[in-house]
Formats: sequence, C-alpha cells, structure tokens
Amino acid sequence: MGAPSTENGGKNALLRALPSIEQLLRRPSLEEKLAAIPRPRAVAALRLAVARVRERLLRGEARPFEDSDVDEALRALATPNLRPVLNATGVVLHTNLGRAPLAPEAVARVAEVARGYSNLEYDLDEGERGSRYAPVVELLTQLTGAEDALVVNNCAGAALLVLATLAAGHEAIVSRGELVEIGGGFRVPDVMKQSGARLVEVGTTNRTRRSDYESALTPDTGVLMKVHRSNFAVVGFTEEVEVKELSALGRARGVPVFVDLGSGALVPLTGEGLTGEPTVPATVAAGADVVAFSGDKLLGGPQAGIIVGRAELIARIKKHPLTRALRIDKMTVAALEATLELYRDGRPEAIPTYRMLTWPVEELRVRAERLLGLLVMKGIKARVAPISGQVGGGAMPLARLPSYACILTVGEPAAFLECLRGARVPVIGRISDGEVVMDVRCLAEEDLGPVADAVGTASQGRHAC
Ligand SMILES: *Cc1c(COP(=O)(O)O)cnc(C)c1O
Repeated sequence: MGAPSTENGGKNALLRALPSIEQLLRRPSLEEKLAAIPRPRAVAALRLAVARVRERLLRGEARPFEDSDVDEALRALATPNLRPVLNATGVVLHTNLGRAPLAPEAVARVAEVARGYSNLEYDLDEGERGSRYAPVVELLTQLTGAEDALVVNNCAGAALLVLATLAAGHEAIVSRGELVEIGGGFRVPDVMKQSGARLVEVGTTNRTRRSDYESALTPDTGVLMKVHRSNFAVVGFTEEVEVKELSALGRARGVPVFVDLGSGALVPLTGEGLTGEPTVPATVAAGADVVAFSGDKLLGGPQAGIIVGRAELIARIKKHPLTRALRIDKMTVAALEATLELYRDGRPEAIPTYRMLTWPVEELRVRAERLLGLLVMKGIKARVAPISGQVGGGAMPLARLPSYACILTVGEPAAFLECLRGARVPVIGRISDGEVVMDVRCLAEEDLGPVADAVGTASQGRHAC
C-alpha cells in the first residue's frame, strides 16, 4: 500500500514542477532556439511540449521536463497533420489513404486556378455570370453519351440529391439485394430517408425480377433506383434486372430510372486480374435516365459526385436547393476538367489510377526486384514474391490483382509497420501470413528509395524510429 502513494507523491511532485510557458520563454538554455522563430509559434511549441510531458507523467512515466522536449514539439509543429504517405498496401483506391492520386496535369491545373482568381462562375464571352459546371459539362456529355451533367461534392451527396429531387414525398423502388452499405455508414435506406423518399423494397436478397418492380409501381412512384453492388458480390442462385430492362419498364410507365453506379469507370478497364465493371457510357446507353458516380474511384480524378442524364431531369436536379449545399469548389472543377481531358484525348494511361490498375505484372516484378536491390544494400533480409492485391475504394470486390512484393523477414511485424508509419514520409504496408509485405503496385519508381530508407530505419529497431 505504501509504494503507490510514494509513486503518486513522486508523480505529483513532477507535475507541480512542470515549468510555465513564461518560465520557459525566459529559460537561458532555450533562448537562442526560441529567438529564431516567431513568438506565437514558440509559444505553441512550448504548450505542446509541456502538455506532452504532463500526459506522459499521468500515464506513469516519471521523467521531468527537458529542453529536448521542446525540440520534439518544434519538429511536430513543422510536420503537417495531413501529409503524403507511400502506399505499399497494393490497394489502389485506398479510402483511408485518399483514394485516387491525381494526374500531374490535374495537379498543375489546381495550382494554377487556386493561386488567383478564375472565371469559376463568370462567362468570359458574355461578361456576365456563368455556371461553375460549364467547364466540365461538355466533356462529361461527350465521354458518357448523356444529354447533360452536374457535379456535386461526392457520390453519396449525388445519390441524396437525385432522390430528393425525383422522389421526395414519393415512393422509390429498390431491389432488396441492392440496399447496401457502401462504407463509412453510407447506407442506401438511410440516404433514402434523408432524401424524403419512401423506400419500397422489392424482390429478395438474391433474386429480383422485372415483375417485382412492375407490381410495386403505383401512381405515387417517383423513381426506380438501381444501386451497383460495388463492394460485394452475390453469387449462386441469383437474378437481377439489368439497367436495360429496368429502363424499358420505366419508360413504359413514365417513371425515371436512377442508377447509383458508384465506381464510375469511363472506359473499360482491362488488366490482369480485373473483373468486369459496368462503364458509365454503357449504363447511359442501356437507357438509364440519371446515373451517379464518384470522381475519385475508377475515374481517377478529384473527390466528386458526378450526375449525368436526361436534360430535363438534370435541369430539375440543378434547381434543387441541396445542389447549392453540395456544390464543388474551383479546385475540384480544375482537377476534374484536366482529368476528363486526358480521357477525351485518349490518354487514360496518364491517369495514375488507370495506370496502377493495368500495370503488366512483369513490370511489377521488375520493380519489386529493384526495391529488393535497395533493401539488400541496406543489409535487410527480404525476398521478392508474387502476391495478390485489391482495387479498393468499393470497386471490383472480387478482383485479385496479381502483383509482386518484397516480403521482409522481421521479428515483430506489427511493431515494424508502426515504425514505418513513423518515417519522415510514412510508409503504409500490410501483414500477410505473419510477414511484412511491401506491394509495389502503388509505388512509383521515385518512391522506392524513400521506402527502402524507411525500412532501413525500422529494421534498426524501436529506438531508431
Ligand atoms: C462509393 C459509392 C458511393 C459513395 O461514393 P462517394 O464518392 O464515396 O461519396 C455511392 N454509391 C455507390 C454504389 C458506391 O460504390
């Protein structure tokens, strides 16, 4: 019983002894260092340093405040919270890692437009107010075959907006097999509720027929909705109504058909291990009246929810008050326009997502060998092995992308990965069969050096990271 109270006494004494910010600002040993930086930054660093030491004391680590704590806090302040990482997971559209990396053309366009004024909502020919969607509408209609287009913040927002416009206060018919959760709590029934549409479920989890939709149609039906199963698959005894058939039914009964496509490929993706994915042009050609898809999934552009479809319906959607609430900013317009131009020009391979999904596996093997060479030079034990990766981002759930990785021989894989995350440029790897795996699919040539450096540091043990 005596020991804890002595311990607590020691802890309390250390807590009481923590210096004040004023004291630290006057501390001679820190004077030179602090004089070199703006005072507000110095104060922020000292606050952070003291807070961290206090936290450590409360956790039971009995160590007084030291000048080196200020150095650590200054380093922490110099590191942005949001910053680049290297993706060695092999998951191309990794939602946690920011999904689609942008093409250099798109990045350059963003920088150009963001740094000054732009004609975002200004018609330069007429000298009057214009539409912020104008720069991308023509590209989108050309590339998808739809009559008109609109872009909002993301595809979840797009689905909400389309349902609110077409079916608020009315019925929206959806197959039970498509009442999905896309991820991050985005569930079709919840979006439906938020939109004000009344959900009418038809069919069963595995089978839905045209007659199910047909018998659910009433004069109060606002929309027939189809949700692409982008992040899971139903196999076995299954049946679904294709867009073409559903659209024919909708046309016959005068009810619009809305397809939430999610993944949004503009061109067919053919590469080793990829599975078929309905493209936007094919969905439009099949007769869908409105199609929504993401800008930063298979399209490989900025985060956005793209809505294309029949002009009269898009005009109604544009007028809905939610459109203003969900509107995109100039950086998104810039990045999207530049990305769509690459598709228009027949250069999809200039888009990182497209390129990473379609790498020839032999090229990946060569890259893994190159990484291995760098690792061996640092004395790290590793080998190159074939491995299977994923598309990610809720697209092509069954696709297994044949890739190559460097498999590292390390003691504690979880601790090793933690160390890699702490690198100057954090490296995100994964564990497979108890081993640390560095998949090279999402690493560019110039990333290999920094990855090898991070692995080198991590292999020197905990004290090094
Ligand atoms: C991913 C996805 C969404 C959500 O798209 P975000 O752009 O992430 O908002 C919606 N619907 C489907 C079918 C999806 O796959």
